[in-house]
Amino acid sequence: MSRQRTVDTQPELALRRALHAAGMRYRLHQRPLTALRRSADLIFPGTRVAVFVDGCFWHGCREHRSIPRSNHRWWKDKIERNQRRDRDTDNQLKAAGWISIRVWEHDDPLVAAAVIRDIVQGRLKR
Ligand SMILES: [Zn+2]
Repeated sequence: MSRQRTVDTQPELALRRALHAAGMRYRLHQRPLTALRRSADLIFPGTRVAVFVDGCFWHGCREHRSIPRSNHRWWKDKIERNQRRDRDTDNQLKAAGWISIRVWEHDDPLVAAAVIRDIVQGRLKR
């Protein structure tokens, strides 16, 4: 399961470059909550913002999900389990005062970086 969240994928690197260019500083691959054994791709600890870059296949993006025809049921279950786990992670973070931002690997990294910057800056002002 944990192997599915591979680190330093292309979409992740593109997002990191865009955030860095926007002057944003973050930490990589850390657990937002020590008790929760799930790490985020990026975290902004001061503002409690966690960013996950979700792969279209493993996380079941509506636009690009293509469940293999062989072992269809098995893949479908697996992807649905991942989605439930993602929602559970989001809920647990929210309960602890964090916000979780999910970026699809197909999202434009510049647009995603702008959204993240607005959210982080919005939380700084509170
Ligand atoms: Zn997609």
